[in-house]
Amino acid sequence: MNDPIKSRERFARAQELIPGGVNSPVRAFKAVGLDPLFIDQAKGSKIYDIDDNEYIDYVCSWGPLILGHAHPDIVKAICRAAELGTSYGAPCEKEIELAQLICEAIPSIDKVRMVSSGTEATMSAARLARAYTGREKILKFEGCYHGHADSFLIKAGSGLLTAGVPTSPGIPIEYAGGTLVSSYNDIESLEDIFKISGRDIAAVIVEPIAGNMGLIIPENEFLVELRRITEQYGSLLIFDEVISGFRTCYGGYQNLIEIKPDITTLGKIIGGGLPVGAYGGRQDIMDWVAPEGDVYQAGTLSGNPVAMAAGSATLRLLKKHEYYTYINDLGQYMVNGIKKLLTSCGLEYQINHMGSMFSLFFTERQVKDYSTAVISDTKRFAKFYKTLLSEGIYFPPSQFEVCFISAAHTLPDIDRTLSAIEKGLYWSMQEG
Ligand SMILES: *Cc1c(COP(=O)(O)O)cnc(C)c1O
Repeated sequence: MNDPIKSRERFARAQELIPGGVNSPVRAFKAVGLDPLFIDQAKGSKIYDIDDNEYIDYVCSWGPLILGHAHPDIVKAICRAAELGTSYGAPCEKEIELAQLICEAIPSIDKVRMVSSGTEATMSAARLARAYTGREKILKFEGCYHGHADSFLIKAGSGLLTAGVPTSPGIPIEYAGGTLVSSYNDIESLEDIFKISGRDIAAVIVEPIAGNMGLIIPENEFLVELRRITEQYGSLLIFDEVISGFRTCYGGYQNLIEIKPDITTLGKIIGGGLPVGAYGGRQDIMDWVAPEGDVYQAGTLSGNPVAMAAGSATLRLLKKHEYYTYINDLGQYMVNGIKKLLTSCGLEYQINHMGSMFSLFFTERQVKDYSTAVISDTKRFAKFYKTLLSEGIYFPPSQFEVCFISAAHTLPDIDRTLSAIEKGLYWSMQEG
């Protein structure tokens, strides 16, 4: 490994020009006490920094790159599309193609609107739900992330069960009042909130697999009860499948569990590495969106032909091949390997795992919601992380993120990763 001297230098320069030197906070590596690496190339399962170091990548652009970096078919689709013009501001056939792939893959989606990020998708879905139900409140779960729109940057308040408080300055306190917060996997607190405020709740938004407090798996009846209670009170159910969409199977996670939300939000994988988000659902709801209906939502670059081409190429490849079996098998192999290592070194840990996603928590208690996730030993994680990175393994630089395996990863990649993890665990147990 070369000392990442150029990265350090560039980071110093970036900090003079860009707040914190990054265009999205978690990239700054603050949670693990390191400087970020500057990447200049990526291919398959590997990324390369500007100091000529190679890493096996488990960030995969935070989820989108399920086929790995620079997949030749996707690159080809992007180049071909770009040659025909990068943006028209007018309808194009590529929009129909991606919309059709999405509607065919996810039965609860009759119609879908393309936007340019997951944030826009969830923000627009909430606006639509409020308009459709004529209600104002949105219920979310603590630790779930739905992008950075004002009404979602709200955490659970202390004191009163349901009163939210802003997680960021600059969010009017009234927004916090419009967002109720419950804990993930907790049906009882959900029922309590609905008893008090049910008739004011426009929608419940949930990550059907929670991936933004580390990976948290929904317990048996949690999503079933969520569907039942929202129906009972006439609230809409929004599945935020920005991460889980096309990750566990071809379609949404909802396909696997056979629960139909009213609205689904998508992003990440459906853009094939370009900026795309989408929200879709039942026709009678989606027809409220302008210009068919009155709920305003627009975008200069929405349905961008290059982004649509990347997304369609990705979904077509996913549909055609048995990638899910392959990446899920790799996931299982990885997790079995990590468990064996952890058991033999006697560390308290939890590993949450689904298919090609996993998170390792240094804690003895089962991690099933925000409060059980945050008690993890983040100092140990930082030490562990440092060793992994120096061994050429690029995990997300925070205890509270998910590792993603792509179809470009190989068994030798995983074996190399496991031997780095073994070293990482050893060093995480040393003093100092
Ligand atoms: C990433 C993410 C978002 C936000 O998407 P952006 O494209 O970053 O705006 C929303 N919801 C979930 C579940 C996400 O993981």
